[in-house]
Amino acid sequence: MYSYKWDTNTGGYLLTTQTGKFVANEIRPVFAEELSLTGLGKQFMYDKNELRPLLWAQRNIYLLNGEKVAQLNGTKYGQPLSPEYFFEGKLKLVPVDITAMVSNNSEIMDIVVADAKKRVKELYDKDIGRCDTTYIAFSGGKDSIALLDVCNRVLPLSVPVIFSDTDMELPDTYKVWEEIQKRYLEREFYKATSESSALENWRRFAPPSRTIRWCCSVHKSTPALMYLKSKLHKTSIKVMAFVGVRGEESLSRSFYVDSTDGAKNASQLNCMPILDWGAHELWLYIFANNLLLNCAYRKGLTRVGCLMCPESSEKYEWFVDKAYPRLLKPYKDIIIETSSKNFTTTKEKTNFVGSLNWQARKSGAVLKETLTNPLEDINGLIVTFQSPHFSKDLFYEWVKTLGTVVKERGSECQQLKLPNTLDNGIPFSFNAPYTGGGTVTFEFRDATEKEMLLPIIRSFLHKVSACVACRSCETECGVGAITFKNSKIKIDGTKCVKCRKCYEIDYACWRFKSMYKSENEQNKMSGINRYNNFGLRENWVSALTDLGSAFFPWNENHPLGKKMVESASAWFQQACLVEDKTRKLAPLYELFKKYGSDYSLGWDFIWVALANNAVLVKWFVTATEFEKPYMIEQLSGLLGESNPSLGQSTKEGGLAALKDMLTKSPLGGKGAVTLLEMKGKTLKNITRKTKDVDPFTILYGMYLIARKAERGSFTIRELLTADSESVFISPLVVFGITPETFKRQCQGLASKFPDYISTTFTHGNDGLTVFSQKYNTEDIIAIALGE
Ligand code: SF4
Ligand code: SF4
Repeated sequence: MYSYKWDTNTGGYLLTTQTGKFVANEIRPVFAEELSLTGLGKQFMYDKNELRPLLWAQRNIYLLNGEKVAQLNGTKYGQPLSPEYFFEGKLKLVPVDITAMVSNNSEIMDIVVADAKKRVKELYDKDIGRCDTTYIAFSGGKDSIALLDVCNRVLPLSVPVIFSDTDMELPDTYKVWEEIQKRYLEREFYKATSESSALENWRRFAPPSRTIRWCCSVHKSTPALMYLKSKLHKTSIKVMAFVGVRGEESLSRSFYVDSTDGAKNASQLNCMPILDWGAHELWLYIFANNLLLNCAYRKGLTRVGCLMCPESSEKYEWFVDKAYPRLLKPYKDIIIETSSKNFTTTKEKTNFVGSLNWQARKSGAVLKETLTNPLEDINGLIVTFQSPHFSKDLFYEWVKTLGTVVKERGSECQQLKLPNTLDNGIPFSFNAPYTGGGTVTFEFRDATEKEMLLPIIRSFLHKVSACVACRSCETECGVGAITFKNSKIKIDGTKCVKCRKCYEIDYACWRFKSMYKSENEQNKMSGINRYNNFGLRENWVSALTDLGSAFFPWNENHPLGKKMVESASAWFQQACLVEDKTRKLAPLYELFKKYGSDYSLGWDFIWVALANNAVLVKWFVTATEFEKPYMIEQLSGLLGESNPSLGQSTKEGGLAALKDMLTKSPLGGKGAVTLLEMKGKTLKNITRKTKDVDPFTILYGMYLIARKAERGSFTIRELLTADSESVFISPLVVFGITPETFKRQCQGLASKFPDYISTTFTHGNDGLTVFSQKYNTEDIIAIALGE
């Protein structure tokens, strides 16, 4: 990516041979439509019909020859704007001399474009041999329009362009879609759409959120993959997709490498040849080649996405609402209708939608209609599940992914025959009363069978409770056992190999995940103020290493107060410094004893342990984003949003403990997992930071979550997702490790410690195993101690 400087001769900019990074500081051209639409134009004199850019903008700041001339404040859905100007009187705007700007930059742009073309070819040649097909992804945005043009110069004409129409696209995007096909007449274009409408799915699944993005699977990747599968007449495919992703767009994307295999979808290899392009380079390419421009940009939208998106900003929704009046209303209505909140005034509703709190939803707990786990009754080897959400049809369809149902002749008895077994199977009965729902009872034959099957059956019952045939599972199945008929899922038991890849979505079903409400959520969260407002402090760890087992119980000579020792008891157990209940010193204690209470590796171990064991930290790491500062009031709002029935004092107590821990331990500060901004002695905001951790931390974290999950094998995809309901929180989520770095570190660990970890990252696989039957976290600490 080249740098740029403003050019008063053209009103545009000149690329310079310096390289630079512009994350979150993208520039964009500002057109007459935007000035009129926002009312900003009042102070400017300009031709309302001018097609060339009149200004440039960086976020909400408007620039003329690099000088700030105006700023838009308060761009929030449903709120009036307040423009601010930085000049006196009225300012006449002269259009940018695009022709001269393009010509002045052509030398450097030739290099940028040649590099991108070369990269397209390299990426294609490198991996096409192991892919069944390839396509150019099209979204109608500026990046995808430029990407298509670059790819068109290099890729064979047989490579089609696929537009995944989410049914929530901006009206201008549909216009671009019609037009773009006329520009590349020799190439095949295909529009992939879901069978059900976006609004229908918003009602069935409840609105998507940043962590529950069912919409991307149901309306984007699934339709495209289903199309390619049917085109190739194949049940399992490996696809190479050229996508217009750029690192400058967001901080998380700036960590990407330009080819990622299976990071978002196991069957897809993403190639990003313009990953390094800055917006200033992209705009030059668009102007130089007279490419189509989505009119949404002319209206002031900084990006082109869905009308209502869980990732969009307040500003984006303001512009969508203004540019396409009334189109947001149906989505807004569903956000209100599905929320468990009682709104009394229109203002409350507008604020709720405008504040974008609905995007922060982590589970179904804040919804009016929810799905819960079945009631479970375990009586020795007989286990009964009961739920008002069970459907008999779904039970007998999805049960084929567990085994074969065998009926005894002339009897009502049924058995679930597991694959590769010779016996008759596990007796079970399914009863569905007329009132709806159902009860299912399994009679396991021994304790090992029960232990092995119970977690699988629990996942299977999520599908039985919630499946509405969104087809996401169909794309996961490698043998084509899942089909879709009359809006229902059909499983071909003879084809199904019981691999349960279709269970890999968190909670085994998108809809269940989206609407799931834990039964005991309230009880769990109420534990967040058990720390007497104290956090885990470094000087407590120091006192523990001094006192050893004499730290508990408290006595009058103790260096800490009685309430502190009570609090330390909870924190130390959750941090794995002492053992549960017995409070016996745990091996992690030895690490601090040997290397001191500020030992950085030890605190990384503590952080991953707390993220898994302490409900407060678990909430914090799953509810907040990396690199985004949160004010304490904002955190309080988020905590209240995800746990509406939590009392004010509980919330305050929990947050006080969190603040105390971050300010008084190596978990907060420069180079730590959180960055703290102080105003005097008061903590103003907290930013979670990504951290390059020692491979030992990864190994420790993997053994820790293996104990939680009661298994040792994981896929990277499942390690990437987490919310406050997840059984475990992986080191990837805790430290913000990118999948590529994680893979590299795991491979390094596997070659150094083959007895402790193995990986299968080749040929599109993303599995790793830790040998939790043989070893545990204590063994990892022993290695760290050099024993
Ligand atoms: S079970 Fe699969 S296909 Fe059915 S709704 Fe859930 S994710 Fe979609
Ligand atoms: S993914 Fe596996 S378990 Fe699921 S239907 Fe296909 S073969 Fe069966």
